[in-house]
Amino acid sequence: MGYMPVPQSCIFCDNSACSCEHLWPQWILDRKSFGSFRLKRPGALEVILSNIELTVKSVCEKCNNGWMRAPEGDANPLLEQMFDDKPLALDLNQQRTIATWITKMAFLFDSKKGRNAPNVFYEENQGTAFNEHLLTPQFTLIWIGRLDEEHRSADGAGFTLLSKEERIGEGTSLTLANEHFVPDRQHPSEGDTDGSY
Ligand SMILES: [Zn+2]
Repeated sequence: MGYMPVPQSCIFCDNSACSCEHLWPQWILDRKSFGSFRLKRPGALEVILSNIELTVKSVCEKCNNGWMRAPEGDANPLLEQMFDDKPLALDLNQQRTIATWITKMAFLFDSKKGRNAPNVFYEENQGTAFNEHLLTPQFTLIWIGRLDEEHRSADGAGFTLLSKEERIGEGTSLTLANEHFVPDRQHPSEGDTDGSY
């Protein structure tokens, strides 16, 4: 009897995952090329990533072609203006739209660590709750900023929260940058330095 690997399930529902989703949405990659993606990890040599390595095997076909399209479509007109460095005032609804998109990106980048990696941040029920309600999980903080120059990157790191030199928890942060747009997300969790793309 041969060994059959158990298919990994989708991080947002109970279906089996496929390798259909790209870490960076294609429309962002199509806007501007910054050359190859490189992976930098502390204490290791920088490596150039192939297209295969830029996909995630953690979402199913149904999520990918269904509800996940909405945060992308809603945020696209706002993001494009910020990518282009056009001044923009965001009302509360627009801030929510951007926060939902950043959270979706954070789930995908987190899932790239592998399902059973010790530093995976999001729990299964947070993924299914995000699918149902499109709300950013509790205790998540999001900042957005503007870059003087342009680049595309994703940097992840773990950190320890201290109060009077006592450890009170672990956190994780992800900083994404595309062209002139820089959102940053922080959340207490378990984790180590995650490397960067
Ligand atoms: Zn799914």
